[in-house]
Amino acid sequence: MRLIFLGPPGAGKGTQASRLADEFGLCQVSTGDILRQAVADGTPMGKKAREFMDAGQLVPDEVVIGIVRDKLAGPECAGGYILDGFPRTTGQARALDDILSDFSAPIERVAAFMVAEEAVVERLSGRRTCRACQAMYHAVFAPTRVGGVCDKCGGELFQRDDDREQVIRERLKVYADNTEPLLAYYRERGLLTEVVAGGSVDSVYAAVRAAVGV
Ligand code: ADP
Ligand code: AMP
Repeated sequence: MRLIFLGPPGAGKGTQASRLADEFGLCQVSTGDILRQAVADGTPMGKKAREFMDAGQLVPDEVVIGIVRDKLAGPECAGGYILDGFPRTTGQARALDDILSDFSAPIERVAAFMVAEEAVVERLSGRRTCRACQAMYHAVFAPTRVGGVCDKCGGELFQRDDDREQVIRERLKVYADNTEPLLAYYRERGLLTEVVAGGSVDSVYAAVRAAVGV
């Protein structure tokens, strides 16, 4: 399976990608996770990306395209993958087409997460992530058993800097301006299936599985 999960920040793409990847042995390629790791490690790429991420802006195309090109060429993605948070611009979508035409292995389905803006703001403002294993929680909708401690590995939970109200609004605007046009891009290519993403995690998972045909 070669899949793209498309949708606004906070739509639940990472939550669903992680579950589908675990169940079907796929590689989850989250450009946001890779960039956050680069920032935490203080690499040259992380230093370049940080100011864009903190402001809720997109990191320049050439940086993220390079990340995805390297990932998709690696052995861990050979058995199928989910692109989570990429592409986010038409330039990125075109570059992805070029990369995949070199491998003769096109994208098979794009799941477009459809969810109301208020729900997204609610989800993002309560999002908590494990510092050690990146597991995803929500203060209200998906709390840990012990407050502030990851159920899976005991790591410490944190709130992302860009999940503050003002940055959330900016990220939603950036999504509408730059990423929403990709719905038409993939619809025209017959690849898009809409997923109703406003319900519970389990109901969205069932919709995702139906959308990608597994
Ligand atoms: P994205 O990857 O699209 O930015 P996430 O998967 O990180 O979104 O989800 C954002 C937040 O919303 C997380 O805190 C997650 O636990 C929570 N969440 C995800 N799916 C649902 C859902 N169906 N209902 C309620 N909360 C959800
Ligand atoms: P995410 O974890 O997907 O919400 O991404 C967090 C931040 O990382 C975004 O607000 C951007 O600054 C950056 N980012 C992640 N993926 C991309 C991408 N495909 N293109 C540009 N910037 C990205």
